[in-house]
Amino acid sequence: MEIGNTFICSIKDDKKAIITFTFDDALYKPAIFFSSELSKRGLKGTFAITTNFVRDSNGNDVNGTWEQWINLINASKFDVANHSKSHLDLTKLTPEELEEEINHARKILISKFKGQKVLCMVNPFNATNDVVDKKISEFHYAARNGIEGYNSISPPDKEWLRLNYKGIYHDTSATEMKKWIDESIKNNLWLIEMIHGVNGIGWEAAPDNVFRDHFDYVSSKKEEIWNATFEEATMYIREVQSTSINLKIEDRKVNVKLKNNLQPYFDYPLTLKTIVPNEDIKLTSNGRYIPFNIKREENRIFVYYEAIPKRDDISILF
Ligand SMILES: [Zn+2]
Repeated sequence: MEIGNTFICSIKDDKKAIITFTFDDALYKPAIFFSSELSKRGLKGTFAITTNFVRDSNGNDVNGTWEQWINLINASKFDVANHSKSHLDLTKLTPEELEEEINHARKILISKFKGQKVLCMVNPFNATNDVVDKKISEFHYAARNGIEGYNSISPPDKEWLRLNYKGIYHDTSATEMKKWIDESIKNNLWLIEMIHGVNGIGWEAAPDNVFRDHFDYVSSKKEEIWNATFEEATMYIREVQSTSINLKIEDRKVNVKLKNNLQPYFDYPLTLKTIVPNEDIKLTSNGRYIPFNIKREENRIFVYYEAIPKRDDISILF
């Protein structure tokens, strides 16, 4: 019998694709529009912040002050990525300047946004080289620095710091973006959208109705996609890539623990599925009952549930 066999889903909730929205350049006014339109639809994204843009803001310009950004982030489910200190081409800098633009910018973001991990980098102009990648990899686990295109839902090592994106420009249509979503679902891909401004504010700003149509479409596909922030997707996928299952199958009980060697930052719950003999089961983690879903697939019964590696000690009783 295969009762007790357990699998980690490569996408949260066993969805078919991952959709990530990234918003560059600390554009505060557009950020208000995007966070409101996405939140309304139960969606979220990642703001890529250039720290000097915020430092130099007077509160009435396009970038916004620290206080404005902190309030916006706290009121939404968005997170923050590092978009450098002063938005220079990182491939043209000295080692000291790279330290400042990459690692010091991250320190500033962590000190301003309490509770944010800032594990992801978005290079200005998507410009990078091997030296820049190496610097980024000291404290970041992903960078959106590739070319126009999609990502695998399990990027190999060398691609983690060269993740691809699809840019939304002033003339990108909702019809075209719809194709990106369909393509991602069809081929099990991770789509990272690169967005700047809206309605003439910010670089290559597209009109608000285009974004509304697009977000409506993404929202209509929620059954098939996982809309993750850049950091959530990075944590989930990195955990899937390094986690192994420690399984103990007894007569009427299965015990599941997850092991990996990742840094303590990586505490995102993974979706697991285990084959069970019937639907009359109970699930506990560390002695407490936890929620689960049952799905029948062909002639097997699966229980779906969540577990955090190295923390949750799951028992399935039947
Ligand atoms: Zn930028």
